[in-house]
Amino acid sequence: MSKKAKRSIVTGVTPVDTYDSISIKRINTLHPQLVDSAMRVFNKARSKGIPMYVMWGTRSMGDQQVMYRYGRDLPGKIITNNRPGYSAHNYGLGLDFCLYWNKVLFTWEDIYERWYWRQRWLKVVFMFEEEGWDTGWRWTNFEPYHVQNLMGNTMLDLVRKYEQVKDRNNWLEALREQDKNQGVHIQSPETTRGGDRDSELG
Ligand SMILES: [Zn+2]
Repeated sequence: MSKKAKRSIVTGVTPVDTYDSISIKRINTLHPQLVDSAMRVFNKARSKGIPMYVMWGTRSMGDQQVMYRYGRDLPGKIITNNRPGYSAHNYGLGLDFCLYWNKVLFTWEDIYERWYWRQRWLKVVFMFEEEGWDTGWRWTNFEPYHVQNLMGNTMLDLVRKYEQVKDRNNWLEALREQDKNQGVHIQSPETTRGGDRDSELG
């Protein structure tokens, strides 16, 4: 990453290593109203000695399309059930994380049998919940690495809004501009607890 990019995106923290820099960069791809919230979790995790790594922030419709094709018309395993437009990532409202140690990334599958690491993973999940995010760890289709905050929308609301934007090249900017004008606020923990089944889309 260039020095210039580093300076322009960091929100109140100095990256200590490449993993930090990449994570911070990815957090900064999220909806502007979620960046501070995600950074608070990231900083809190780090201050507790939890090495959290952000695997995905915003994912373009093109990337989603490619991912959707795996295990269908591309060889490999199915990695997502969500067509483009049906993942919180497409709107910058979802984030995937994992942990790392000694430059090795640990997925949930790697660590869930190890109490020490599982506790740390769950602490990150709960920190996101304290910030009002919905966590895939609680979902019936279990996505322990996935957290999202649809900011009061259902997934279908988001799909409809996306379809209404005329400018296909700048649709994400257009949606964010709309949110700004409408003064959309992120959900409080009270309104997200209990879970909106519509949001069970990773
Ligand atoms: Zn995800």
